[in-house]
Amino acid sequence: MKLDRILPFARILLEKAVHRGDITIDCTMGNGFDTVFLAGLTGESGHVYSFDIQKEAIQTTAAKLKAENLQECCTLIHDGHQHLNKYIRKEHSEKVTGAIFNLGYLPGGDKSVITQADTTISAIEQLFELLAPEGLIIIVIYHGHPGGSAERDALMDYVQNFPQQKAHILKYGFINQSNNPPFIVAIEKRR
Ligand code: SAH
Repeated sequence: MKLDRILPFARILLEKAVHRGDITIDCTMGNGFDTVFLAGLTGESGHVYSFDIQKEAIQTTAAKLKAENLQECCTLIHDGHQHLNKYIRKEHSEKVTGAIFNLGYLPGGDKSVITQADTTISAIEQLFELLAPEGLIIIVIYHGHPGGSAERDALMDYVQNFPQQKAHILKYGFINQSNNPPFIVAIEKRR
């Protein structure tokens, strides 16, 4: 297949935006795959802030980072991404070049703990102010689980009404697949 699948496409976008030494944020740490990926892009001279409300996510991710010897450049935060502003150091303000959300529940974890529209949107608003010009926010929207369609609808309403002079916003997804496949919304802060 020539078309990029959803998760590879999310990474292609992050690779375009993030370079060595950059500041990045994983807003939904989960099993830590994106945190490790971002740390690989920023290297030790950069930084990854990574958020999750579940202890399990922090433990799994800490072990992954240790195994790859990447723990130095990552801060794992056991709190909701809606409190982002509390944790990002002042000198990193407007320096964030890439951030990612994987919405929904933790695979293999408690399916009742899901991301929610109001907290997700609050995090996006804070994050947008922290972005560097041409910085990217990638949101992978999962909407097949209970509560997923409500978050999707609120989020789509929010991004569709986002001022055009401030950001380029893209939607990417397969439109003839069954079972509510995830899709991407990417927000690029305009220069
Ligand atoms: N659905 C994706 C993975 C989503 S993981 C997949 O299948 O690959 C989503 C993670 O977000 C979970 O680990 C969950 O604990 C976390 N989460 C939920 N609400 C959060 C919040 N307010 N702040 C930070 N993380 C949150």
